[in-house]
Amino acid sequence: MGIAEVGAPHVFRLKRHAPASIGEFVNMAELVAEFFAGVDLSLFDLGRFTIKMLDFLTTCEERRRDQYEEMSFFSFIEGATFSRKFQSYLNSSRFMVAMDARHGSACTIGNKVVQIMLDFWRAKGENDRVLRGPTRSQWLEPWETYLRDRGVVFHFGQSVKGFVLDVVRRRIVAAELSGGMTPVIADHFIVALPIERMKSCISDEMALLDNSLLRLRRARNMTAWMVGAQYFLREDVPICDGHVAYPDSPWALSSISQASFWNRGKAEHDLFQHRYGDGGVKGVLSVDICDWETPSPRLGKSARKCTSAEEVLAEVWEQLKEAVNGAAGQLLSDSNLACWYLDENVTFVRGGAANETPLLVHPPGSWFNRPGPVIAGIANMFFAADYVQTETDLATMEGACHAARLAVNGLLAREGRPAAAAVFPVREDAGALVKRAKERDRRAWLQERRAPPPLVPRPGPFRGDEGPTLDDARRYQDRLEAALRALGPE
Ligand SMILES: Cc1cc2nc3c(=O)[nH]c(=O)nc-3n(C[C@H](O)[C@H](O)[C@H](O)COP(=O)(O)OP(=O)(O)OC[C@H]3O[C@@H](n4cnc5c(N)ncnc54)[C@H](O)[C@@H]3O)c2cc1C
Repeated sequence: MGIAEVGAPHVFRLKRHAPASIGEFVNMAELVAEFFAGVDLSLFDLGRFTIKMLDFLTTCEERRRDQYEEMSFFSFIEGATFSRKFQSYLNSSRFMVAMDARHGSACTIGNKVVQIMLDFWRAKGENDRVLRGPTRSQWLEPWETYLRDRGVVFHFGQSVKGFVLDVVRRRIVAAELSGGMTPVIADHFIVALPIERMKSCISDEMALLDNSLLRLRRARNMTAWMVGAQYFLREDVPICDGHVAYPDSPWALSSISQASFWNRGKAEHDLFQHRYGDGGVKGVLSVDICDWETPSPRLGKSARKCTSAEEVLAEVWEQLKEAVNGAAGQLLSDSNLACWYLDENVTFVRGGAANETPLLVHPPGSWFNRPGPVIAGIANMFFAADYVQTETDLATMEGACHAARLAVNGLLAREGRPAAAAVFPVREDAGALVKRAKERDRRAWLQERRAPPPLVPRPGPFRGDEGPTLDDARRYQDRLEAALRALGPE
């Protein structure tokens, strides 16, 4: 992973940590210091972040969901007290797990931050991994072939617009299609429509039969725009060994140089330029554009107000160049750009852009508006999409797969058959003493709906250039560890 900051001499590469054992109590202070090693952050930023992440880590899952779900991650960590630089990192989507720390729930984002940090530290930790080629050839096509071999029939180009419901039997009878096509009749319906499309397919009758469908239909402001763009380069520019965040970019960009990963271990004839295009393109910079509301000072308007894909792509290209072309040299140049492409789900009219497929951004409280994989009030309806409530709890391909596995097992259960799909639980192994702290927290929360009294006083308050530093956080961590050890197993 890397960070490209405007005016920096070069793109900063986050170091990879040598695998270490977590031990009995994860050394959060050291972990935070190592994670941000070389980035010019203040000792106040590092200290505050350590203390907040220790608080999060020692909170049980139930309290995270009940209490932290209702606030943003930004307010949980008291983001406004951090330096402008740290705040820009928090706003930087890829740095914060393809999510919005300012508007995303503290429960969801905190869980992901903890996972990323533990993966960074522990032996066999795996973070910032990528596929070995385009998603289509690496995943979708092999999967489609496998399913066809098993007798699955695909009906491409047909659009679901609603469902026919048998209210008495509480069953979906058919899926209605657009364009006057014959409705599809089936025994079971596993739905994987994008969230906004699905909302418009929930009828009054369906909402009356199932509360989760009612809540989903009513939910507002669940999504934001994250849109993909590609810049095809005559010569590859491997900016960094992983994703790059652009914390200063007005449109919250992140990127990855795909070809450098896809070429690894490949013979000459199998390199990017021989596999894709006309042979004249050797690299592709794949970019996520995550802020469509903030005006770019150069353009004087936001991405959403642009009137063509070209206008968006040209401005994004300028923002990328501004960040990576530091004193160390010009990484991106106009002469190296062969062509570009913007996700065609974004369309343009005179007033600006429209997006067919906005992505769930997990705002506070949104967990409770998301359906589970099995719809309790309708006997043959299941959900297998990225916005479904799962332990993965992140709008990603992994989240969608997790939901699909649970949906399949739910369907089999309703048929009286045993589960067939493997489900991979999310591990959060931060040491036996952290487990002890979480158990203590869980007891207090489940029995009395309160957090237990702090074992040792928390350093604070956080105020400008005052308050706890990284050393204070280290001392707090040591005292907390000693208190947990003294508590003994209960
Ligand atoms: C720019 C960008 C970058 C991303 N990067 C990553 C990443 O690096 N890693 C990661 O894991 N995730 C990433 N994601 C998120 C990931 O793509 C989604 O979370 C995932 O694809 C969701 O899968 P899904 O099956 O729920 O929905 P989708 O993949 O959106 O599939 C929904 C399908 O339904 C079809 N459809 C729509 N309307 C209808 C209708 N009315 N009738 C029938 N079919 C319909 C659509 O054509 C589509 O094929 C990214 C997303 C974006 C936008």
